[in-house]
Parts: sequence; structure tokens; C-alpha cells
Amino acid sequence: ESKLEILKASVRTVPDFPKPGIQFRDITTLLHNPDALQITFDLLVERIQNSGIAPNYVIGIESRGFMFAPTLACALGAGFVPVRKPGKLPAAVHTIEYDLEYGTDRLEVHQDAMPAGSKALVVDDLIATGGTARATANLIDNIGCYVVGFAFVIELRDLGGRSQLPDVPIVTLLEY
Ligand code: IMP
Repeated sequence: ESKLEILKASVRTVPDFPKPGIQFRDITTLLHNPDALQITFDLLVERIQNSGIAPNYVIGIESRGFMFAPTLACALGAGFVPVRKPGKLPAAVHTIEYDLEYGTDRLEVHQDAMPAGSKALVVDDLIATGGTARATANLIDNIGCYVVGFAFVIELRDLGGRSQLPDVPIVTLLEY
């Protein structure tokens, strides 16, 4: 069994969550499995480094990005920065509003999270339409920093999320 087969077998698909008709890709079963967990971080780090991504900071998107970003930051010799849902960060923030299928949502980062000119790697568990990752990239632009790459464990290919992102390396492990 190849590493990627072990990984794919560890992801659970939950039908009709959070709404009827959605096939939710659940990474809690991957995190639960020591072999899959190790493979995930080993492959992400290897592919990030092979892509020439050398960030000063790894940005985790709330909530599931937080499960991957700090460990990657340690392995890459970078710091970790959380991008959070509104009202969670205690100090002064920059906010970005972005469109959802129905309505809008917001994400926030501390204004002093990174010095201007820092290079940032954006991390989340999964990219679907790309709206969340694109909004995070715009937020980082707005504080005078550079997005130098993206990393996701899972890509939902048919939704075309990568076409929404700026032209920097994108690392993914599994496709559906
Ligand atoms: P996007 O903005 O459409 O790319 O959606 C990506 C965001 O939604 C990420 O923060 C994901 O964690 C979450 N998401 C969407 N679909 C799934 C899924 O099937 N499993 C886990 N997270 C998902």
C-alpha cells in the first residue's frame, strides 16, 4: 500500500453533512491514525520544500487549518499565525469580508501578526471553491505581506478552487 493510499483510506466520507447532498470529507479519522498522521506531515513538508516555498510564517485558517499549520511551522522553521472568525482575536485586527453561496462571511488577523514584507504560507485542511483561501490571501496582502504558497491536505478538484488563488505554488495531497 502506498503512502497516499494509506492516507486516502484514512479519510472518512460522511454523506449529507452539514446539508443534504454534501459529501463531507472528514479528516478527524486521518488525525486519529498514527501512520496517516505521520505521512500527512512528512509529505506536506517534503512537497512544500520541493516547491521552493520558504515562508517566515505559516497561516492557519480557523478551525481545521489550526490542526496542521503549527506543526508545519515547526518543521519549516517558521512562526504560526491564526486567521480567525470575527470577534475571537483580542488585539487590533484587520478584517476581510468575502462572498459565500448565500450571504457573506468575515475573517480576521491581528494587525501586528507579521512584520510588513513577511512571506506567508496559507494552510487549511481542504480547498473546495477556494473562497476561504483567497480571502485569507487578500487579508495577508492587506497587511503588507506576501503569500508565497498554499498547502491543503485535500482538494475537491471539480470545484476549481485553485483557479481562484494567486499564481504561487499550491501543495495538495489527496484529490476527490
Ligand atoms: P471553500 O472556501 O469553498 O474553498 O471551502 C473551504 C473551507 O470549507 C475550508 O475551511 C474547509 O475546512 C471547509 N470545507 C468545505 N468542505 C469541506 C469538507 O468536505 N470537509 C472538510 N472541510 C470542508
